[in-house]
Amino acid sequence: MSMLDGIQSVRDLEVAGRRVFVRVDFNVPLEGKTVADDTRIRAAIPTLKLLLDKGARVVIASHLGRPKGGPDAKYSMEPAAHKLAELMSLDVILADDCIGDGPKKVVGDLRDGQIACLENLRFHPEEEKNDEAFCRELAKLSDAYVNDAFGAAHRAHASVAGLAKLHRDRAAGLLLEAELSALGRVRGEPERPFVAILGGAKVSDKIGVLDALLTKVDVLIIGGAMANTFLAAKGLTMGKSLVEEDKLALARTILTRADEKKIALVLPDDVVAAESVDATSGRVLDVTALGATDMALDIGPRSVAAATKACAGAKTVFWNGPMGLFEKAPFAGGTQGVAKALSELVGAFTIVGGGDSVAAVQEAGLASLFSHVSTGGGASLELIEGRKLPGVEALRG
Ligand code: ADP
Ligand code: MG
Repeated sequence: MSMLDGIQSVRDLEVAGRRVFVRVDFNVPLEGKTVADDTRIRAAIPTLKLLLDKGARVVIASHLGRPKGGPDAKYSMEPAAHKLAELMSLDVILADDCIGDGPKKVVGDLRDGQIACLENLRFHPEEEKNDEAFCRELAKLSDAYVNDAFGAAHRAHASVAGLAKLHRDRAAGLLLEAELSALGRVRGEPERPFVAILGGAKVSDKIGVLDALLTKVDVLIIGGAMANTFLAAKGLTMGKSLVEEDKLALARTILTRADEKKIALVLPDDVVAAESVDATSGRVLDVTALGATDMALDIGPRSVAAATKACAGAKTVFWNGPMGLFEKAPFAGGTQGVAKALSELVGAFTIVGGGDSVAAVQEAGLASLFSHVSTGGGASLELIEGRKLPGVEALRG
């Protein structure tokens, strides 16, 4: 069964002359008053364009950052709305709130093919509580509902869950559809051999997905700080490296289960180490050679080669989490090496998900060489774990 069964597509929605609420994910990084990375804004454009071309009156809304339950100019949608206007070469009218008289007037004045942006949904604490009355207030602004915010689909928030159900005409946007069909290929019965690569900072963030993957991968490659905990669990000295002491037992359980299931679990055999995260260079060390003051900050070249080899012939590859402290040039080689290896795989369906891993792939200029680059970190992991996403379930029926 496809993940999209029972969900209407935005393509089939009657929208001409109607007010269509589109939940987008414009939770973008800002530098002062400008958008530092417009990937998420660009990702919403196909759906917005489709609706505007069909003569809809489009009302977009999103959250941005973590305002503390009230209006806060620092988290205004203004820079995002401005960026969207620039990218689409059209006017985007910004309302001063997401509910109440201001937005009602703005939306009431919209003509067919025009677009308005509501102010940050999280200026109201009711958004995160999926508050019914708040949902009803939002619902006054639209005749149909579209969710194109995959990055927020794992949250049971008002604009994602409750509001959808208040609309008889509700549909998935093009981005959400693309995410569900790509990630659905990993969640269901992935074509084998299936290789998963997990990295990033913490085992604890990713236990759920590790567990789920153990039931279906052929090869599991672990890198990043997460690998440190596994190496420590095997009895190696990790010096000052990031190690989650309270997850050592869990790491041992995972190692045993992988063994029982005959899964090839690939851990680094060399690392790039330094004595501080601010070091301007690192030393390649065998994982057995770390001293008391060494920190493993990246996987080493032999580990990149081993990961590359383990991916050869794969039909499906899912990658989440960088292989090292890639934000710092001396420790970016492992992540770049893996990104390059995956980008060169022939005949494999390759997916990268996770805020930081995606940023690394984009920085390396390799994003277009992946089969799918997911816009949702937490959402993609929950989906692969087999969990139901509230924002997706709310669209059914
Ligand atoms: P994603 O956003 O792709 O899901 P995470 O948020 O789980 O990834 O982890 C990303 C962070 O992990 C990055 O900030 C990266 O610098 C850090 N990291 C990865 N490996 C190491 C390491 N060996 N030591 C310290 N930090 C690391
Ligand atoms: Mg992250």
